[in-house]
Order: sequence, then C-alpha cells, then structure tokens
Amino acid sequence: MWGMPTLSDVRLCSFYNKTNLNPFPFIIYIMHALSKFLFMCLAAVSVNPLVKSAAPALVEGRIVLTAEDSAKGKIIRAKGGKLIGVTLDRSCESNFDKARNAHIEWVPGRPLPAGWWHGVIESNFTGGYVNRDISIQLTGGLKPSVYVASNYLHVAKGEPQRFEFWIHSAAPSESVRIVPRGDLWRWNRTWPISRITLEQVTPASLPASAAITLELPVSTDGAVALPFSLPTGNWTLGGYMGKAGEAVVQGEEGLPIPLSLELDRWKKKRVYSTPFHIRSPLKDVQIVTKNLFSSVLLKHKATRESKPYPSEGTLMVTVDPAKSESETLVLYGTGEAGPLPAFPQVPLGYKNVVLTSWDDGKPTDLRCAQILVKHGYRPTFLLNGSSPALAFMDKLEAMGAEVGSHAYTHTALGTLSPRRALENAASMRLLLENKLGHPVISFSYPDGYSPAQDEEGDYVFRAVRDAGYWIARTQITREQTVADVEEPLLMRSIGLYGSGNKMLVAAWPRFREKEAGVFYLKGHSWQIGKSDAQWDKFEKFVAQFANNPGSWYPTNGEFALWLWAQKNIKISGKTRGADSMVVQLERPWLHPWLAARCPLSLKMPAGVHSVKWRGQILPVVDGRVDLVWAE
Ligand SMILES: [Zn+2]
Repeated sequence: MWGMPTLSDVRLCSFYNKTNLNPFPFIIYIMHALSKFLFMCLAAVSVNPLVKSAAPALVEGRIVLTAEDSAKGKIIRAKGGKLIGVTLDRSCESNFDKARNAHIEWVPGRPLPAGWWHGVIESNFTGGYVNRDISIQLTGGLKPSVYVASNYLHVAKGEPQRFEFWIHSAAPSESVRIVPRGDLWRWNRTWPISRITLEQVTPASLPASAAITLELPVSTDGAVALPFSLPTGNWTLGGYMGKAGEAVVQGEEGLPIPLSLELDRWKKKRVYSTPFHIRSPLKDVQIVTKNLFSSVLLKHKATRESKPYPSEGTLMVTVDPAKSESETLVLYGTGEAGPLPAFPQVPLGYKNVVLTSWDDGKPTDLRCAQILVKHGYRPTFLLNGSSPALAFMDKLEAMGAEVGSHAYTHTALGTLSPRRALENAASMRLLLENKLGHPVISFSYPDGYSPAQDEEGDYVFRAVRDAGYWIARTQITREQTVADVEEPLLMRSIGLYGSGNKMLVAAWPRFREKEAGVFYLKGHSWQIGKSDAQWDKFEKFVAQFANNPGSWYPTNGEFALWLWAQKNIKISGKTRGADSMVVQLERPWLHPWLAARCPLSLKMPAGVHSVKWRGQILPVVDGRVDLVWAE
C-alpha cells in the first residue's frame, strides 16, 4: 500500500468510470456518452503522455524507459509528490480487446533490434505486499516475456525494489510492454514501476539464478541452436502451435526428456508451453514433430534455494503388501458351484457417488462444514502448512468431515524442482499425521494439476504418489464414473463459482441417471462471501445436490478406500458344503484406522440368504452384505 496516493494522472482512465447504464432512459444514456466523449477529447489533448514527451531512444546499446514516458497505466506518487511508479489499471485495457490485450507500453523512436537484452526493472515502492502478477514483454516475434512474480527476489521492506532479467528476441520489437498475468480483479495494486533499463549485452553463459526467456529459430530438421549450454532448473518450452507435437530436451548428463506439446483445449492455435526440469546444463532441444514451430520460446525460472520443508518424524505406513491378512465368509443357501461374491461398483446399495472438497483451510471452513454436514455431505478439507483451519481440525473431524493436504506451501508443484515438489507434498502429510495421530491420504494440487517432466516422467504426479496419498483432486472437469476412475490421484471435479455453478446444475440430472456416476463439487469456503445473504445463497445452492436417496456421500478418503478395496481384496472359493460355501477374503495389511473406514460391500450369488462373518450371522439384503473388516 502506498498510503493516500495522489492520482496525478488522468489520461484515459476516467473514461472507464463505473457507470451502470441500465436504469437510465435512452436520452440520458446519449447525454452521458457525449459528455464522456468530450471529456476524453480534453484529457487526450491536455495530458496524453505520447504528446508531452519524446520517445525513448536506444543510445549506445542502452534504453531507459521511465514511468512518465509510458502510455496507459496509472502514475502513483507519494504524499510529497515523489514518483513511485506506473501501475496497471483499467486504462490499460484497449477499448475492444479489454483485458486480453491490456498493457502499459513504451514505444521507442525506432524498433529495438533482435538479440540479447539484459533488463532491470526498478520501483520506488517501499510498502508491504504488492501484486507482481505481471510480465515484461518485447512485442516482436513470439513476444518473449519474463514473468515477474515467479522470478522476483524479495528485498527488505523499505529498500528500493528491482527485478533483473534476460531476454533473447528473434525479431525486432516495436515496443516494450508490461502485461498483467491474471484477470482484472488482480490489477488492484500491481507493482508500480518507476524505470526499466534495457541493455544490449551478449552473455557467454548464465547462472541458474537468472530469469531468462529466449526466442530461438527452429531449423528445418527440428533442431534449436542454443547460444550456450543453458542453466539447470525449471524451464518451459513452447511456441505458436497449429497442431500437437513432440519435443525432446537433454542435459549434458542424464537421460533425454520427452515433452508432449498439446493444443489448448479452447483456444486451439496459440502460444502453448510445457514445463520441465533439467538437472544438468541444457545442451539440446529438438522438435520431433515436423513443422511444429518456426521458432520456440524457452523460459527459465530463477532457481533459488527455498527453505527446506519440515521433515520431523516419519510418515505413517498405510498398507504393507509384504503382510497379508485373511478372513473367511460362510455363505448359506447355496452349495452349488456357483459364482463367488463380487464387488458392486458403488458400496452400501447406492447407485452413485457425490464427493466434495474444500481447499486452502480458511477460517470460513468451519461454517462451510456445518452447512454441508447439515445437508448430509461428508466434505473433505484440504489444508496448507499455515492454514488457520489447523486450529480447528478436531472440530471438522468430529463433524464427520475429513482433513487432508493441499501441500505445505501453496506453490504449484510443477514450478518447484522434483525434490522440492515431493518434500512439499510429504511435509504436509507429516504435519497433519503428527497432529491428528492417524494416516492422511487425501490431497489436492495447489493451483490445480499441471504436469511437469523430468527424466523419469511427470514429477508432479510422482510427488503426490510418493508422498503416500491415495486420492488427489484436480481441476479437470470431464464427468466420470466409478469404473473410469483409473487414477484416484487425478480425480476430476467441478468448481463452485465462476462458470462452475452452471456446470454443476447442468451435470446433476445427467449424473443421477448415470450408473455409478461420480459428481464432484469442489470449492473454497472463502469464495462464499461475508454476508449472511451470501451464505444463505450458498446453502440453497448445495442443498439441490444433497440427500439424494440413490447417492453415497463419502469423504474423499473413504471413496479412495473403496476403490482400493475393489482392487486389493481378493475373493476365492474354499470349500463347498451341501447348503453352504466357505469363501476366503485376502488383503494386504491395512492401517487399522483406515480399515475401520474402508467400506466392504459384497454382492451375493443367487440363493444366498445369509452369511457368517467373524462369528456373526448377517442377513443378505437386496442381494448384498455390508461388512466391516477391522479390529
Ligand atoms: Zn488452493
């Protein structure tokens, strides 16, 4: 925050003053538009920066772009009038393209030549939190840009701020831009920039701590000529694609890493990039698919040693395949060599499954849980290492909700090294298990699931699997059934809010008809709102999918246990009598806390009227028995 800034800049931003035109009669609307038009003309004549200042120029390989010389954006000054910088605001939207092409721009007298640029962005901003969700972009060729937030090295509070980067462009650039990464609402308080300096410097090598973007041509045989072996760490490879394809990257040591470059599902043709991690200097980039790109963008994330994640204690053993457990089940009413008992798709006589999970562990989780539980849901809450919900986990569990992990820090796992990604996922499990005293098996990917490759494949998925989770929620929205949940660590879901509400309402009738369908509603309790009216609206919304007689409402972990039971409990015939059959059930050792929560429903062969299970006679109801195989 910059404390009561004086807005010295009118430019075009006043043109966008919020005005709700709906209630106005037509004539007032016309008058309003006219007055706005007149104001715009006045503003354009008096303070348009393109009129008042000379275009910045490249002098001896160096160009300095100041806040005052920028087109669009809002100039921020401190109380005494000292310039803090220029930030993104609504004046950065172009009239027709709105947010998509929003930018602050500097247009030099002549285009900047292609080649290497070493850049420094400075800010006189000395406050606390500020949004750096912005990129600096050269506008030539593939518009090579460097994303500030993920590369920024934080300076002490009170220090002037700066950001350093390297860009190699393959084509001359008409201008230099600052572009927002996210939506309009993120523009509040974007980092104010006082000055950008670009220098033509050709490096002989670059360190892993550098933020680098290279645009490089691709030769007809698919080879990309690198200027030198590029630093280790996290990279993305991408380009302007009209079709899907394959590429291979390789370090000076180790195995080649195959990369698949997929088309964006919605925007078919566009700049698409795929992340990878290279542990020895990157020496080869080969585009395997013919004519996929004429040039590519390679982006390197500045590598810094992040603080290690807590690792006190050991993760709980959930399953031990070396130890086997067995039980016998006596079936009465059949002695024939008929079929064995079998698993239904959905346990407990239900037709389908409703899952719900809530990320980030905010204080509002408690109220959210109360509403969901009241309506018969069994929600799962997924927490980070600093989540306020850590303080009331016991209350959530006492309500029948489940507590799971959203990684220790809310960092997209693919932006970390493979080692840190695993540590981040495992640390949170460790923290929760230490506090809760029982295994934690549910997870949701921070920032959603987005694969990243290393020599062994997708290390984002591997981190979650190797940290010992059984089920993990993604943001992939395709509908699914119990049978096509091939990988519980990639559960699909539909998010509340945004377009999600409509999707959920549309999916519900289809889901109810579908045999063994899975309806997965995910959300963030902080999105619900602050007012009681907003909470009432939320309650009404979730109530429409609640208490459906044919639906099973398990927690994420219980659903994972059911999937596990179907695959891992082996049923075999043992001995057949005149009017009975003894069946053996076998499974790997399962942690007792999990075993007590693992559903075990079995469809009985025709004619079986009752069973004997652990000394008890149980009737067969609707062709099924529901057992508990635990201490
Ligand atoms: Zn989250």
